[in-house]
Amino acid sequence: MKIGKLHILNVLALSIMLAGCFANNAPLEKESFVMGTVLSQKIYGKSAKEASLEVESKLRSLENDMTVRKPGGEIYNLNLNAGVESVKLGFDSLHVLREAVRYSQISEGAFNPVLGPLIELWGFAEHPGVPGKREIDKLLDLADYRDIVIQEDWAKLRRKGQRVDLGGIVKGYAADVAVGIYRSYGIKSAFVNLGGNVAVIGDKPDGKPWIIGIQNPRDIHGRYIGTVPVKDASVVTSGDYQRYFEDDGKRYHHILDPRTGYPAQSGLISTTIVTESSIKADALSTAVFVMGLDKGMELVESIYGVEAIFITNDYRVFVSEGLKGVFKMNTGAERYKYHEKR
Ligand code: ADP
Ligand code: MG
Repeated sequence: MKIGKLHILNVLALSIMLAGCFANNAPLEKESFVMGTVLSQKIYGKSAKEASLEVESKLRSLENDMTVRKPGGEIYNLNLNAGVESVKLGFDSLHVLREAVRYSQISEGAFNPVLGPLIELWGFAEHPGVPGKREIDKLLDLADYRDIVIQEDWAKLRRKGQRVDLGGIVKGYAADVAVGIYRSYGIKSAFVNLGGNVAVIGDKPDGKPWIIGIQNPRDIHGRYIGTVPVKDASVVTSGDYQRYFEDDGKRYHHILDPRTGYPAQSGLISTTIVTESSIKADALSTAVFVMGLDKGMELVESIYGVEAIFITNDYRVFVSEGLKGVFKMNTGAERYKYHEKR
């Protein structure tokens, strides 16, 4: 009797231990709504819960600092004081602003963080509609990123009416911040997706790379044109399908060409950047979308460690040197033609 009971207790203890092990191996998977979009986290390791909560609260504070639509934040105040005075900024806003200017320079103005008034005019967020050309041209004059002055702990916009909009870069920064928080908890394997800005830490626990799907730009959400395997990297896509409206049968999407003030018509409908940092991937995916196939690919090939997948409006798919044989087209995406050489 006694031995039997002990045996049962041992079996019980063993199964509790095993359950504990499995529980540790299962990732924490969580979805929340932050920065106007869906935040998905998949985290392996024992501090997953604490890390996920810290990421949520840090991202909410970044949203408050950098949103241009709600009063009180740092970038909101910067815009409010355009042409008047300088505004003190915290570390995060200063860093994102500096990077935004740097990518404007690198892309020769294709990336532009002072399109605020034009983005507002097109009303992509609330009341979309095609503005008059005269209004566009008037605001185009204000869209000069060289009017952003950044010093040690403050910044200013030189002219009245100028407004910064960091929508093309801030989600990438937030994904990098999330990765930093995971690492600070000793997490070795994690996946974060902030509205299409993906970043991963390490491999999956089974030692295989994370497989990231690239959205088919003309299919329903979640249908992929192909996949790319990654480790310790970020994958960010800009596309004309993410936010747009149609007028008179024409598509008007949310990535503006800073030279014209109209949605970019570069012949590309989707640009994906794969690289180690998500802020870089975010800024560059927006920039190359505006630059088009040849100039965009030239820029990608000129920066060490940056790879890309471009899709044209006639359904051709181009990848940079480093993704040849790595990016895999899905068999279901027949409409698209993969091109090795350009
Ligand atoms: P998403 O926000 O859909 O992930 P992007 O990273 O490409 O896509 O950013 C698009 C956003 O960036 C727009 O909604 C707008 O706020 C801003 N934006 C639009 N055109 C430009 C541009 N040429 N340079 C920088 N930011 C831009
Ligand atoms: Mg971007």
